[in-house]
Amino acid sequence: MLPSRLTNCTTSRTRLPLAVLLILFPALLLAACDSGDAEAGSAPAGRMDTESPRSIVVLIGDGMGAAYFTAARLHKGELAMERMEVGGLMDQRSATSLVTGSAEASTALATGVRTYGGAIGVGMGCRDLMAADSAAMRADPAACDPLESVFDVAHRAGMSTGVVATSSVTHATPAGFGTKVPLRSWQAEIANQYMESPIQVVLGGGQGWFDGRSGTFDTDRLTPFCAAAEVDCLLTPEEFEAHQPSAERRLFGLFAEDGMPRFTEGRYPSLPQMTRTALDVLAGNPAGFILVVEGSQPDWLGHANAPFHEIAAESADFDDAVEVALDFQAEHPHVLVLVLSDHETGGLALLPDGDSLVAAYSSTGHTGEMVPLFAHGPGALAFGGIRDNDEIGRTLVEMVRRIEVAVR
Ligand SMILES: [Zn+2]
Repeated sequence: MLPSRLTNCTTSRTRLPLAVLLILFPALLLAACDSGDAEAGSAPAGRMDTESPRSIVVLIGDGMGAAYFTAARLHKGELAMERMEVGGLMDQRSATSLVTGSAEASTALATGVRTYGGAIGVGMGCRDLMAADSAAMRADPAACDPLESVFDVAHRAGMSTGVVATSSVTHATPAGFGTKVPLRSWQAEIANQYMESPIQVVLGGGQGWFDGRSGTFDTDRLTPFCAAAEVDCLLTPEEFEAHQPSAERRLFGLFAEDGMPRFTEGRYPSLPQMTRTALDVLAGNPAGFILVVEGSQPDWLGHANAPFHEIAAESADFDDAVEVALDFQAEHPHVLVLVLSDHETGGLALLPDGDSLVAAYSSTGHTGEMVPLFAHGPGALAFGGIRDNDEIGRTLVEMVRRIEVAVR
């Protein structure tokens, strides 16, 4: 396995700390190892690079630049994601800006195509179509230059899919994987597409976008949807607590009218709990699955220029969800786990304050710096080093296409 190869290599060839090499130079490190390991009789070169996963968990810490990961590590002492074998940095820009928003960032990760600000699963052509006839696009949002997403490919392969978020599930990051609309604000249309799609698991906030309290529809579409025989709907924390996950049924859990509470306000169910439940359902499909988990609220705290302890607690909760995914991966080694951020929010710096640190901000918006990414499991090495966000998306799509071809 790779960890022993890395250990062998670093002890014999370099005195740099292993963690530094893992984070910054995975490709370089592999190359160094490859030249010497054939004689040592360890695993074949490039094994993790060429192996295909059968299932994928993507965990996205919205707004989490390196300072957020640092705050979480100071809070917890040690991060679960330190177990991950491959690290790197991601360039977050969009097709139209050096500083992305979450919608176009999610679209790049889900489809492999950079697009315009606010676009959910649709390409640059949608801007012209909207300018020409926005009413027609409103009537059929998914027809506005739709891009094929990794979820679309997965569904063709008979794989299951799911999204988990602490925002409304209709927010930009989960929506970019599962739906297609010209503008991220069309959240009621996004809710409709979730219900009409094959997506099996949807967990987070956002009831109001489904039941007519928010958005463009006055009608309650949620009640008839939940009455369907194949769907389990959980609309309160108590229903989540009592629910037994079933691999044969869809699961929609919507625990707030819009976004869920902050971690420090006692959010329930928590992000790790929702992640565990989603995995319990999706793991029942022998054809595999893709699960996207968003820690939505580090971004919100960054926009609000929140104090250090709130940033640390919310980011640590995201790492707790990563731990659930990594524990699952340890039992199911065919699963690739990818952890990344979509962009940084707030220009957060951690400044010395006596024996501790305080949060200092240079912005209330997003910033243009590269963000951390980590990968673990089969195919992980494809994500190491410095990558563009659309490159990550193309790699994910290609990995799932290989699964699709194998299924045919
Ligand atoms: Zn934001």
